[in-house]
Amino acid sequence: MIGFQVEVTGYRGQEGRLDMYTGSRIAPGFFAWAIPSGETTRIGTWSKPGLMGGESCEQLLDRLREEPLWRNRFSGCKEIGRFCGPIPSGMVKRPMIGRVALFGDAAGLCKPTTGGGIGPGFAQVDLVTPHLLDALKCDDLSDGRMSEIAGFMGPMRRSQRRSKALRDAFLTESTDSELDDIFAVWARPEVIELINDIGEIEHPIPLGIKMLREIPEFRSLTKRAVKAILLG
Ligand SMILES: Cc1cc2nc3c(=O)[nH]c(=O)nc-3n(C[C@H](O)[C@H](O)[C@H](O)COP(=O)(O)OP(=O)(O)OC[C@H]3O[C@@H](n4cnc5c(N)ncnc54)[C@H](O)[C@@H]3O)c2cc1C
Repeated sequence: MIGFQVEVTGYRGQEGRLDMYTGSRIAPGFFAWAIPSGETTRIGTWSKPGLMGGESCEQLLDRLREEPLWRNRFSGCKEIGRFCGPIPSGMVKRPMIGRVALFGDAAGLCKPTTGGGIGPGFAQVDLVTPHLLDALKCDDLSDGRMSEIAGFMGPMRRSQRRSKALRDAFLTESTDSELDDIFAVWARPEVIELINDIGEIEHPIPLGIKMLREIPEFRSLTKRAVKAILLG
């Protein structure tokens, strides 16, 4: 994916609340965000180039800020920084070979659901460093030993695939009108209760699977998410 974010002062949002925006005009298949960050707010959008019809994320973000429904939230904003870049999500086939180890974005570890890559990068470091240190002590950084160490990243790969399948089912493969229907269901008190109960941004799979299983309106999405369920 590709993302673009500006850091601004003067965004008119509710204190401490993350605003999310979606729809094909501003974040095809994905979402845009306005997230408070101390004195400033980070406002960004992300998508896949193939879904963007030749437009850039910057153009999508401009459109978000001009949307009549909420442009007053953005009218007092002053930009103090901008960031753009690829968001590689999809672990590479061979993250480690003889004497070479890829970490973080280089290994394709960003989360398919949020684009966050810092947490997964550190999780990978925690996971593989002890094994790499052992290999170093034995002076064995051969292809075979490195592939063995990469094998410890198997659960990360599976979890990333399942999150992607759930994201595709709920968001990326939904039309704008299907998204309206999904949000109408998410806004129901019993669904909000479920989200508050087991929803966790770092671990979205349990909530996604439970919603597919327990909320009748989401059964139609089950076909799309079958990969996520089977990979479980
Ligand atoms: C718009 C946007 C918003 C994001 N928001 C978030 C967020 O809110 N939370 C989150 O967790 N993640 C976020 N991410 C993703 C996050 O930024 C990355 O996942 C994270 O920075 C990856 O860290 P990294 O160390 O793996 O790679 P990088 O941060 O890309 O670091 C790699 C470094 O290697 C350097 N380098 C490259 N080639 C060479 C070379 N040949 N020799 C020497 N140095 C080299 C680069 O200059 C760079 O400094 C966002 C990404 C984007 C694009």
